[in-house]
Amino acid sequence: MTPEGPKAWTDLGGGIRVRQSRAFRMNSVLLLHPTAAVAVDPGVLPSELDELAGAVREASPRSVTLVFTHAHWDHVLGRAWWPGAKSVAHDRFASELNRDRERILGEARGLAGKHGETWERGFEAFRPDLAVSGLHFMRLDPWRLVLRDAPGHCDSQLSLHLPERRLLLAADMLSDIEIPWLNRACEVYRRTLEDLLPLARGGAFETLVPGHGSIARGREAVLMRLHRDLDYLERLETGVRDALRQGLTVEAARSRLETMEYLGKDSSETPTREIHLQNVEHAYRGLEAAGPSKPPSASPAR
Ligand SMILES: [Zn+2]
Repeated sequence: MTPEGPKAWTDLGGGIRVRQSRAFRMNSVLLLHPTAAVAVDPGVLPSELDELAGAVREASPRSVTLVFTHAHWDHVLGRAWWPGAKSVAHDRFASELNRDRERILGEARGLAGKHGETWERGFEAFRPDLAVSGLHFMRLDPWRLVLRDAPGHCDSQLSLHLPERRLLLAADMLSDIEIPWLNRACEVYRRTLEDLLPLARGGAFETLVPGHGSIARGREAVLMRLHRDLDYLERLETGVRDALRQGLTVEAARSRLETMEYLGKDSSETPTREIHLQNVEHAYRGLEAAGPSKPPSASPAR
């Protein structure tokens, strides 16, 4: 048994189990039922994948479906553990995986080595059996899933919502240990979160499992995560907009916004400072490409 063995698992009841990795506190979620089992982002170390596969086997489901929330390497390593399973992911997933396949394998090997394990399974890019985008309802009895486009961090990202369980699997968003990590203009990420906000207010999410970090329990806790990340994005956007108005270069905007406050700023474990500075650049390029901002009265209502 690994030292953190028992604590690695959280049982959410009703066949839903979450396993947190030793690496990056990455969460894999299992929906277990004799009719159908679903594994969401199974990972990330080989011993952990063995353990997840064992838990699925124990439920002896008639079918296993793998859902991948996005194509980043730490989320896509599990497929080789379930060769017969169907897979579901975003319709941009396959091309991102194909583009990044060598890097994914390199990262998998490196991470395993860092944790005293060996990555023996290789990695092959694959096409999901079901590629979805937009808003997609899915029934895998007894599980009902709503998959939603969730761009901002990765173009192939989806969030997963189990309406009957009031559960949101948030992919790489709404973490208590990471700030939003942009791959595009700030606005893209902000809109993804803003779309979830009315649902959260209405009580659609009683439990939130982020891709990394702790599970949030209760409507208020879920709302707090949303508000904190939206607050960060709004401050980032405002700061960058001011910098652009004043004619600052991207380098000058980076150094000015280095002083901004945000979650995990002084953490030595995660490269949060570097992520924040990259975010400044994405926000800057995004606003620059959008052109000079119009007065509020001229912007379309949302
Ligand atoms: Zn990611």
